[in-house]
Amino acid sequence: MIDASKYIQQNPTIKEVADKKETVWINPDLLPFAVTDGVCQLVVSDADIADAEERLRRFAPFIRRCFPETEATGGLIESPLEDIPAMGKALEETYGCSIPGRFMLKMDSHLAIAGSIKARGGIYEVLKHAEDLALAEGKLTESDNYAKLADEEMKAFFGRYTVQVGSTGNLGMSIGIMSAALGFRVKVHMSADAKQWKKDLLRSKGVEVIEYADDYSKAVAEGRRLSDADPTSYFVDDEKSVNLFLGYAVAAKRLKAQFEEKGIVVDADHPLIVYIPTGVGGAPGGVSYGLKRVFKDDVHCFLVEPTQCPSVLLGMATKEYEAANVHDFGISGMTEADGLACASPSGFVTRILGNLVSGDFTVADNKLYDYLRLLDKSEGKRIEPSSCAAFAGPCSLLSYPGSRDYCARHGLTEEVLGRSVQIAWATGGRLVPAEVWEEYLATYID
Ligand SMILES: *Cc1c(COP(=O)(O)O)cnc(C)c1O
Repeated sequence: MIDASKYIQQNPTIKEVADKKETVWINPDLLPFAVTDGVCQLVVSDADIADAEERLRRFAPFIRRCFPETEATGGLIESPLEDIPAMGKALEETYGCSIPGRFMLKMDSHLAIAGSIKARGGIYEVLKHAEDLALAEGKLTESDNYAKLADEEMKAFFGRYTVQVGSTGNLGMSIGIMSAALGFRVKVHMSADAKQWKKDLLRSKGVEVIEYADDYSKAVAEGRRLSDADPTSYFVDDEKSVNLFLGYAVAAKRLKAQFEEKGIVVDADHPLIVYIPTGVGGAPGGVSYGLKRVFKDDVHCFLVEPTQCPSVLLGMATKEYEAANVHDFGISGMTEADGLACASPSGFVTRILGNLVSGDFTVADNKLYDYLRLLDKSEGKRIEPSSCAAFAGPCSLLSYPGSRDYCARHGLTEEVLGRSVQIAWATGGRLVPAEVWEEYLATYID
């Protein structure tokens, strides 16, 4: 256990965080891209990301065959990028904030198959594992048409193996659905905060769901232990996995292509500012990392976490990484944002983002439902509460002294921000059942 009181005394931002106040942590160790380039490439290189991209392309015929919803994208799992000017206006009017530039929603909330950002990393890792097994056993070569992986013979082959994962919900859904489609046996270890409808949906796909009364870290630890004891079992490790990270990082080049299609320019004069809801750090970390590789100093990546569970913020601000736990700071870890309820962050992500991420905003739970209603009303779009955390970023960028100072130091003047693109990264929502939407829309928290 780390000495939290020392950090609370020394660092006024950590004090605010421990007081569960909404705030922003600005990363004092952010470095110019060129300075970080060498070390970063040593850990996760551009070639690694390109390899992940290629692998997803190889699997596209399989995905297209198993999931007809991906027909339009030829088996690639990619989300729309949409303008949300009415939401920008609604936020400005409701909160008295200012959101300059072109305001957009990256709708990973509506990714095919898993209905969340986990359709990037989670699905990628399962595909990579399946490919590794099939290649090793001579059942597949990289030049094959991967559509054959949906044949009964291959399903029987994968049926000899188990995939396990610990999850607050959405990761379990992406791993569970894709593993089941390939024929794997799947066990998802779920924490107490996981929503009932997610457990029900998984069970309906033949996934074994094991429930824990404890939080996410415990579900992961137990899942890892059980999996390690079984030589035919593979554990998807959200707290450490580089494969998950690579699956998320692929998003960046695809976003660049979407910008090009829409005639959007990103350069020093037209910066890109991105806000991504963060749990253990893997998804926002991988996406941010990929964005920095592509857009370098022209992109500013901000994370957003619940005031009741700011684990990545604490891991980075204290440099205690995975040893930081919100409970040590007197924070409950209990949040309506079930997808963000990770008491300790990923050690891998908090380290690799150390010089890349611009900062981390915290948001109170009650705002999540207010944002949810505002987006529904202004744009007719629905994203789940965890996902709504993203809106706290653009709303607060010019409100906190810390983030205003960040803008001043990085040349983000009023004029430059007016030419910027600001993206709220929506991370989940498409699979939420109708009756749960009604519940969300009617939820008010003090
Ligand atoms: C998983 C998830 C996140 C955050 O991803 P991490 O890898 O846990 O940081 C954000 N939003 C939603 C809806 C998620 O499911």
